[in-house]
Amino acid sequence: MWLLLVSLILVGPARALDYASWVDGTPIVAHPEPAYQYAAELHHAIAPLVAERPGAVRPFVVGMTGQDRPIWGFRISAPGDTPTQDAPRKKLLVFANIHALEWVPSEIAVAFLTEIARDPPKGVEITVIPSLNPDGRAKVEADLLAGENTYRRGNGANVDLNRDFPVNREAKAVWRHLIPGRYATSPAPLSQPESRALDSLAAAERYDVAVSLHAFGGFLYYPWAGLWERPKDWAEMHRLGLVMQAAMGAHAYKPRQLARWGFFFRGHGMEIDHLYGTYGTKSFLIETTRSGLSPFRPKDWNNHFRWYNPKEPERHVREGLRALRALAHEVGGQLG
Ligand SMILES: [Zn+2]
Repeated sequence: MWLLLVSLILVGPARALDYASWVDGTPIVAHPEPAYQYAAELHHAIAPLVAERPGAVRPFVVGMTGQDRPIWGFRISAPGDTPTQDAPRKKLLVFANIHALEWVPSEIAVAFLTEIARDPPKGVEITVIPSLNPDGRAKVEADLLAGENTYRRGNGANVDLNRDFPVNREAKAVWRHLIPGRYATSPAPLSQPESRALDSLAAAERYDVAVSLHAFGGFLYYPWAGLWERPKDWAEMHRLGLVMQAAMGAHAYKPRQLARWGFFFRGHGMEIDHLYGTYGTKSFLIETTRSGLSPFRPKDWNNHFRWYNPKEPERHVREGLRALRALAHEVGGQLG
């Protein structure tokens, strides 16, 4: 009895959360963006996969948000595909929606999860986190229901999680004096529970490759984001980027070092620099879509949700899926 009590205290309530019951307690509501899924719908789509493939799709709580929502992750591997000393299993992490308004990434993450749950690639264990920022996402969901058009990037505390990491936080480019707003970071490294949750997971798992799905831009970015210098593994990351590009078809995104997006651009304290600089994980920030704005729909020009999320997301989801599928097979099969 004492042991049970002590272990309950040590493990804490977060880890005791049962996914199926949590999903049952998360109701689906009607909303004004029917081509997109609210968080509840994403999980109602994932729950049957977990139930149908016990052991193949394993839900876990990555951490709790500032507003006490679970950040769900899912580990997927082929049943019976056990790693051996000669053929150790690789690890791939895919996470999405670090920025509150970027929903195409979550759609891609769940489409990817659904596909690999049915036919998991060999030689790689894949972890998918459909939303790293459930609090920020919940605010956007409420905005849409209320007909509010609010620009939201941060988490529940309005901190940009994409600038909350320790590596390359220092602005070094001379341009920072000219346009300081572009070089801002969060109050302190790992100041938010969501970034700490990602960091703890990355520290424990030591992923070979990680992908952070964003919108919009149409690029396959890799580190460094905060430095102009080429990273040590530049050639290998660029090669993996080309593998994704080749799989994407007519509208393929191009691989590029993020700091070289523009001569003035640096992203400080970004997740890909942290994952690569701290854990050696070859990391990508995929800017999916090329915005949802159209010259033919001027009424959308001021719609923040539409900036990131095209009215018809299907094509963008298919393109993202092709890139991730190719990456997963590459990581499982050939990465040295
Ligand atoms: Zn973003």
